[in-house]
Amino acid sequence: MSEPLLAVRDLVKQYPVQGEFAFTRTRRVVHAVDGVSFDLRAGETLGVVGESGCGKSTLGRAVLMLEPPTSGTVLFNGRDVTRMGASELRALRSDMQIIFQDPYGSLNPRMRISEILSEPFEIHGPPSSATVRERIAELLSAVGLTPLHAERFPHELSGGQRQRVGIARALALNPRLIVCDEPVSALDVSVQAQVLNLLKDLQRQHDLAYLFIAHGLAAVRHVSDRVAVMYLGRIVELADATSLFARPAHPYTQALLAANPKPDPRKRSESAPVEGEMPSPVDPPSGCRFHTRCRFAASLGGRCSAETPLLKEVAPGQFAACHLHDRGHAS
Ligand code: ADP
Ligand code: MG
Repeated sequence: MSEPLLAVRDLVKQYPVQGEFAFTRTRRVVHAVDGVSFDLRAGETLGVVGESGCGKSTLGRAVLMLEPPTSGTVLFNGRDVTRMGASELRALRSDMQIIFQDPYGSLNPRMRISEILSEPFEIHGPPSSATVRERIAELLSAVGLTPLHAERFPHELSGGQRQRVGIARALALNPRLIVCDEPVSALDVSVQAQVLNLLKDLQRQHDLAYLFIAHGLAAVRHVSDRVAVMYLGRIVELADATSLFARPAHPYTQALLAANPKPDPRKRSESAPVEGEMPSPVDPPSGCRFHTRCRFAASLGGRCSAETPLLKEVAPGQFAACHLHDRGHAS
């Protein structure tokens, strides 16, 4: 098989606990991402889901080197981006882009849309086959806007239109990979589907790979080829989307799916998907991090708190990190 576009191996990102160092002698850290590995092929979408705080955004930022990881490697087209110098990284920016959840927060309110969309060319040089003005018109049309929008300010656009500008900015330099960090979570339900369809169309036209982050499974169901489920900084299940939704293998995936089986948001439950408090990523549980909230842990005789389960293939193309599957009975 051909080399993946992106190969992430044992990625770790820790943050120092704010303001604590002065008072304690030991330096404690937030284990935001803790040993994450996956591949992403050109043109593929990997959904990344998990409750708020599980490390999804940190993972996205570390992959793009917006924040350098603590350890691990990120190979893009076979080259380790964690070892690149500043100029190499700048060149890489045209290949790897990000779309944020809140397009309002990520667009400079004092700049016209035309200025926002010309910024990438000021940093990376003019587009190869057109003038900047022509390229901006092309980008606006690609995301369903018109040249009239170029002279507007962000506050003059709707939420959906602003996110279209965010997408146009990400597309400006013809990237191969876009990290989509909850790109529709802040939008009205009626607009979400339009923006998702736009992302899908653009993916097909430009052979884009997406790392598509969302906090619920329903949001990634129709866009993902494969899905990675994260819990407290780790991937607990990684599978093709069809298998994951038909036969979730990890108890946490099962709980997420049971809590939110309906794509219709009006029918979604408002309660947390799993009972019990989310443990602190500063002091995560030993062994399987999910054992404190898992309904199967008690039946495995202490193994879940003692031993870290590794991701292993439990069905073709489906990987889960759970001791249940070592005993040969899938739940
Ligand atoms: P998610 O996107 O899944 O909601 P994040 O990646 O934003 O999760 O955060 C993962 C963990 O890392 C959280 O506990 C969060 O508080 C912590 N964290 C994120 N960014 C920072 C930062 N810059 N400094 C300290 N802690 C951070
Ligand atoms: Mg986030």
